[in-house]
Amino acid sequence: MRRPLTSNRKWEAMSQPKRPPQPFEDIVKVAETKLGEAPESFELVQDYLRRFGYLTENPQSEEAAVAGTLDLDTSSALASYQAFHGLPATGIFDEATREMMTRSRCLLPDPQLVGPTFSTTCAWNRTAFTYAFDAGTNDIAGDAERQAVRNAFITWSAAAPVAFREVATNQSPDVLIRWGNAACGDANMTGGVLAHADYPPGCGFFGNALPRPLHFDDQEHAWVIGAVASSYDVETVALHEIGHILGLQHSSVSGAVMASSVSANTTIRALTNDDIEGIRKLYPPTGPIFVKHSGKCLDVEGVSTANGADLHQWDYWGGNNQIFKIEWMETGHYRLIAQHSNKVVDIEGQSTANGAQVHQWDWWGGNNQRFRLDPVGHGYYRIVAKHSNRVLDVSGISQNSGAKVVQWDWWGGDNQRWRVGPAPITARHSGKVVDVSGISLAAGAPVIQWQYWGGGNQRLRLDPVGGGYYRIMVEHSGMCLDVEGISTAQGARIIQWPYWGGDNQKWKPEGVGDGYVKFVAKHSGMCLDVFGASADNGAQLIQWPYWGGNNQKWRL
Ligand SMILES: [Zn+2]
Ligand SMILES: [Zn+2]
Repeated sequence: MRRPLTSNRKWEAMSQPKRPPQPFEDIVKVAETKLGEAPESFELVQDYLRRFGYLTENPQSEEAAVAGTLDLDTSSALASYQAFHGLPATGIFDEATREMMTRSRCLLPDPQLVGPTFSTTCAWNRTAFTYAFDAGTNDIAGDAERQAVRNAFITWSAAAPVAFREVATNQSPDVLIRWGNAACGDANMTGGVLAHADYPPGCGFFGNALPRPLHFDDQEHAWVIGAVASSYDVETVALHEIGHILGLQHSSVSGAVMASSVSANTTIRALTNDDIEGIRKLYPPTGPIFVKHSGKCLDVEGVSTANGADLHQWDYWGGNNQIFKIEWMETGHYRLIAQHSNKVVDIEGQSTANGAQVHQWDWWGGNNQRFRLDPVGHGYYRIVAKHSNRVLDVSGISQNSGAKVVQWDWWGGDNQRWRVGPAPITARHSGKVVDVSGISLAAGAPVIQWQYWGGGNQRLRLDPVGGGYYRIMVEHSGMCLDVEGISTAQGARIIQWPYWGGDNQKWKPEGVGDGYVKFVAKHSGMCLDVFGASADNGAQLIQWPYWGGNNQKWRL
């Protein structure tokens, strides 16, 4: 049975057949146009340029483009449009431009081109958000469109420290998702526009009130799950629109999720490098950076705030000399800012040699202070210095606290793999990892230990939530480790649950030596523990008072 619809607009839309799926079909008929020419209906091209942010002047002013004529203003706007979309910026209306303009796209205008990259508006002032579903689409059986949108939220939360939680429409959601008419109330999507959303509060295009809209045009377009001729994949479009909700504008990078147009019969369900860099710029990953071979973390020696203080590895103890903000600087490169000193990770003397010491220094913009983050699997990254193309490396593959961090040629060693993304958390007693049972996407699914096989339900990320506590987010579901029912009883189960900020979802890692930590739940003071110290696959994780058991010690 279908859920009740909350909007009767839906029924009006259903009573008439959807228009043929040719987007911006009127522009198809406009002839190729050179400077000074005024073919029939050319004003439709000007309307398009105005609608999507290229002809910005007031059409009533004397400076306005001449309606219907490809004049200098219009030519300049066409050239900007062409440059943004990777076409030769000829400033004339040619066949390639017409083809691009007749693709389906998002309603929000394109930004001024600043380079072949993403653009941003602003970030939210928090990293946890709620969303709710209003009317869905009858194009799709059951509630599958909802799961498609949920999947899109999960994809973003796996890429940057943001978390989403579904609530009911009457629970003041931050984002309200709705299928409806082209004239959706806050905008008019008539034509080839598929959907729209809006930017974070303070940067809104349609205002700044909550909830932020995520509106699909259900009147003119056919919505599907997957690649189907003349139809649009819900997850593909939702992924794009959620990027706007988080503060990203359209990207000029062809193929990026945040590119402004999307084709029918296509699915794009993974973020590109451009999208990931954009979201990391808005929400910089911040926290300890563990190295795989030892479980220890990057640390500024002696908590020194001086220029030239060396970086080494050390057991995690929560000092700000172990917390780094990974800040986007330019395409492909970041700087790593130590939180105790506000200085950056720097290769000493701009040396390009193997073995050069890594230390902290004031930021001055050198290429020995800029690093590429290349994923090398399972949530680990190599950290590559721009000036030398060598990577951060724990000297001599040492296990010892105090072992220096140097630069070295990449050879694939675990002493060169640093935890940046969601990655496994391994129990000391069993060698098995934290795992969401059955790869479940359901709230309340039990968290167990299981042999690592590479599933997204076995990779977790620590996002700081203040006071040395972290939410521990699971990659495949976007949910967090949670003590069931906010229980303070010993033996209470660990489940996954959407993040709502409860103290039963906040964990403090505390070093227990040898590159292991315990995780202390804020609400109870008890620790993450494998029930009965079992070494079996499927053993339930619980909270238990700390007694030093190896089933309470975890390797990051
Ligand atoms: Zn868009
Ligand atoms: Zn709308």
